[in-house]
Parts: sequence; C-alpha cells; structure tokens
Amino acid sequence: MAGIYIHIPFCKKKCHYCDFYKTLDTGLADRFLEALKKELVLQNNYLDKSIINTIYIGGGTPSVLSAVQVREIIDTLNNNFSIDGDAEITMEANPDDIDKVYVRDIKRSGINRISLGIQSWNDEILSFLNRRHNAEQAEQALNSIFEAGIDNVSADLIYGIPGMTPGEWRENLLKTFSYDLVHLSAYHLTIEPGTVFGKMKDQGELSEIDEGMSEKQFRTLLDISEKKGFEQYEISNFCREGYHSIHNTNYWKREPYLGLGPSAHSFNGEQRQWNVSKLSVYLRNVENEIVPAESETLEKKDLYNEYIMTSLRTMWGVNLDYLEEITDKESRDYMNNLVVRFIKYGMVSRNQNNIVLTDQGKMISDNIISELMMV
Ligand code: SF4
Repeated sequence: MAGIYIHIPFCKKKCHYCDFYKTLDTGLADRFLEALKKELVLQNNYLDKSIINTIYIGGGTPSVLSAVQVREIIDTLNNNFSIDGDAEITMEANPDDIDKVYVRDIKRSGINRISLGIQSWNDEILSFLNRRHNAEQAEQALNSIFEAGIDNVSADLIYGIPGMTPGEWRENLLKTFSYDLVHLSAYHLTIEPGTVFGKMKDQGELSEIDEGMSEKQFRTLLDISEKKGFEQYEISNFCREGYHSIHNTNYWKREPYLGLGPSAHSFNGEQRQWNVSKLSVYLRNVENEIVPAESETLEKKDLYNEYIMTSLRTMWGVNLDYLEEITDKESRDYMNNLVVRFIKYGMVSRNQNNIVLTDQGKMISDNIISELMMV
C-alpha cells in the first residue's frame, strides 16, 4: 500500500504564522493544473505500481479550486495509478470556500474525507492570525459538509496563541467537540522565521507563550479529548475509534508515498525526494517534461533519526526490532542506552520491544526526541 500527496500552492490570503509554500497568484491555477496532470504521468512509476490506499490534497488551499478542477485531478489519478476502492481521499478546505453544492460535487468526484481549517472559534483570534474566515463561516461549512453527506471530517485547531486564555482554549475545544467530528488535529503555534509573526518576534513585538501556559493548554486538550472519547494517536492528532488518518499513519509507519506539486516530498523506503518550492520553476520543469525534484538516498543515521522523530510522537512508539531491521544492531543499542534515563524519570515507558512517551514525556517530546537523535 502507498499514498499520494498533492500540494495545491494557492492561498487567497497569507496567515501570519504559516511557513508552508504558497502563492497568492491564483490566476496561475489553470496552468498549474495542467502541469500537475503532466507531473502525475511523469512520476507514475515512482511507487512501483503499489496499490494506493490514501490520497491527500493539501496545500496551500485546495478549496480555491473549483469542483470541476478537483474532479480533473481525481480522474488523472485514476488513469495513472491503481487506487484501492476503499482508499481514503482527503481534501483540506477553508471554511469560507465551501457550501453544500461544492461539497456534494467534490464528493461525487471521490473525496470522502475533509480536513477543515477552523483554527479557532474566536473572531478576534482568527483576525490576529490573519485567517480569512470567521466563526460563523466555520459553523456553516461544517453544516454544509454534513448535509452533503461527508461524515469523515477532521478539524484543525491552533493553541498556544499569545493572548489566548486557557478559558478561550477550553471553549474552542468544547465548541469543536459539539459537532459530530471523528478527528481533530490540534497544533501548538510555533513562530517560524520568515513569517509575519517571525518578523514581529524579531522586532520584539511578539513572543511565544511561556512553558507553564503551554503545558496547561496541552493538558486541557488531553483531558477534554479523552472525555469526548477521542484517542490521542499522535502528539497533535486525536480521533474516534477507527478514524485514524490513514494518510498520516502511513507517513509515521514509513509506507511509501509520492508527493506532487511544488514543495511536495516523496519517500519510497530508501530514497527521499523533494519537489522544487517555487511555482514558476515547477511549471517550467514540468512543462519541459522534467521531474521537478531533487533526491537523496538515506543513510543509516538518516533512517534512524527519521524513524525516531516520527514514531516516538505516535501511540505505537518505537519498535526496537523494526529499528534494527531498517538500520542495524548498533543503532538499537544506541537507542537502548540513551532511553534509560528517560524511563527512569517517567518520561518514556518500555513494554518489551516498544518504547512510547508517557503523558509527562509528551509535554517535552521535542526535547526527548532531540536527545535521542544520532549525531
Ligand atoms: S495556513 Fe493554510 S490558508 Fe493560511 S497561508 Fe498557510 S496554507 Fe494558506
């Protein structure tokens, strides 16, 4: 089984915190779509004819595309890959882009899961983040999705936002869980260099919230999601039983995937490949029948570090037998030695050959993971 990720690089407005590759030049959408269809053909051997069990259309903002354009993408995928009849086909959407007719039409094309970028239910916070929707539009979008018959719906929320009180975060969560969602992705805000927030930070106008507040909001997230019957299967991802995102889980379990569109990454077990992160260069390459990507073969250290970095964030954790299988005995011993002190302090637990973060460890997951890296 394998996955396909498609990066739609267009946004109508740039959010102040976002460092994903995107452009406001939506006038290039038709030309991009033609190039994307060409790239799908150019790269259709990358996954070695594997059956595709997940497709994820992300970005950027895929919902800036018309329903007809979405259909063209799905049709081209069907013509070039073997797609499982039960494949999870997700599309990210912005609340102010969609209505019932749009959702009905993309559903007819095969989209069976929507990830809705709600981020917050508080209009002041949405405006601070420079999102283009408001809470009422998020409400209408959710109603449209359910009325159109898509019930595999995930919401994105952001916490750790400067100025957001613990009470406001709690209200956001309760409001989100008042809908019949099956999945939640909740990300702590990070202030990335090069973003508007990054520049504000450089000028001393904005700073990250303190650790105590971060921890409090994370605990609220764990507490409410558990009470609502959601399982935390990755640091930032929660779901009802049976509704893990197949796409993300494939990444974490090191299944092969092909990424298409500017800045998209691919992985086939041994080699990592990344597409150029500039739309004009991407278009030029693909229009000249050139795969717009660079690649590298992963060495032992890369394989070790990537596996630790992704798997330790999940509820399945690190499996030492598997680590040895993809690297060697020396790597297993390296991990075994380093992890002892985290077990001693209750940050990590060990069950035979599996190593997982405890709730306490999840609070400082980034620190633990960086300590376990191979240098
Ligand atoms: S967060 Fe999403 S909508 Fe906002 S700028 Fe980034 S890609 Fe575009």
